[in-house]
Amino acid sequence: MSVVDELLQFLAEATTPFHAVAAMAGRLTAGGFVELEGIDGVILEPGKGYFYTRNDSSIIAFRAGQASPDQGVRFIGAHTDSPNLSVKPNPIKVVHGVVQLAVDVYGGALLNPWFDRDLSLAGRVNFVDAEGNLQKQLIDFKKPLATIPSLAIHLDREANNSRSVNPQRDILPVLLEARTEDAVDFRSLLARQLRKQLPWVGDIRILDYEMSLYDTQPPSLIGLDEDFIASARLDNLLSCFIGMRALLAASAAHWSVLICNDHEEVGSASAVGAQGPMLTDFISAISANNVENRRLRTQAVMVSVDNAHAVHPNFSDKHDENHGPLLNAGPVIKINRNQRYATSGTGAALLRLLAERVDVPIQNFVVRTDLGCGSTIGPITASETGIDTIDLGVPTLGMHSIRELAGSRDPAYLETLLTGFLNRIA
Ligand code: ZN
Repeated sequence: MSVVDELLQFLAEATTPFHAVAAMAGRLTAGGFVELEGIDGVILEPGKGYFYTRNDSSIIAFRAGQASPDQGVRFIGAHTDSPNLSVKPNPIKVVHGVVQLAVDVYGGALLNPWFDRDLSLAGRVNFVDAEGNLQKQLIDFKKPLATIPSLAIHLDREANNSRSVNPQRDILPVLLEARTEDAVDFRSLLARQLRKQLPWVGDIRILDYEMSLYDTQPPSLIGLDEDFIASARLDNLLSCFIGMRALLAASAAHWSVLICNDHEEVGSASAVGAQGPMLTDFISAISANNVENRRLRTQAVMVSVDNAHAVHPNFSDKHDENHGPLLNAGPVIKINRNQRYATSGTGAALLRLLAERVDVPIQNFVVRTDLGCGSTIGPITASETGIDTIDLGVPTLGMHSIRELAGSRDPAYLETLLTGFLNRIA
């Protein structure tokens, strides 16, 4: 299977950050990596791969090098979360003959593309089992069970000029017809699905859940010559997946680390986000002492991988005319001298030399001077650790839509570049 076929399969499996981490864990295990509870006190075998997860939604995977970590560790960072609609704690609403789900907007979702889609539900449930123990489990309904119908144009003649979306009122999905007077209980629906997935769980009671909606239309290659990939969550599961492939191909000589954090889309300030202690705790654990810890951080380099805005053919004036990345023209170095991206001159120079050596084209992005700039986990990780960081990513259109568009040749370019980075080609 080509890297793109495998990416499409991964994107289809990884319907939530929980499922993304599970899908990565499965592939890492198949690649010989050993799952740990944590890293403290573990005797690591040089050359071997390991990983551990936090909150089931963030993951650190690494290959312990034969050289000591203060000889230079190469890090790849990405994020597992994507904007979505998440189900509220008391979600059921019965109105005008239908049952609807109340939802919150997670992150900076582009809301218009959520209308008229065949939506399903996935996430993690926490429950108490028949013996009174607290348990958790990932669930995915894997079938279209909800939709947010558009308002007909006949009822809003201004729809094409000025329709805006009120997130509290306009985007409640319809779940089923309100057939009986019996109240629908969302937790019971989840319990039924869980018993269907895992018949052995028996008598359970759902206490809490983190469930979100996703589009059931599978990821696909698109375009007359299949030049593009259309999928949800390309931002940033494409980077997680390619980063993982690079790590699987990393040599045993040096330390290579992949960290994929949850909660980037809401600012990274959480227990398992990039601003939390996961990475600094990991660095402390692999350093023999404080001096080595500091030396490790000054010797290390990180590539923060997150998608970049390709120039949109219909909206090309949204880009600086000299900095409009094209799809399928290679990974993009993202630069912002105001530190919304972490890329330093030394880091960018290293990547440019690497790109020459592995024969991968490289593009540059800076935002228009009169527009605000987005950000990534790059500046946060750099501030927390002091590690020289480069922000890099494949060009994408429609970022934060329920269906984003990337080039079908860019994942292979990114993989070649990141594998070369971990293997010290430059
Ligand atoms: Zn992103």
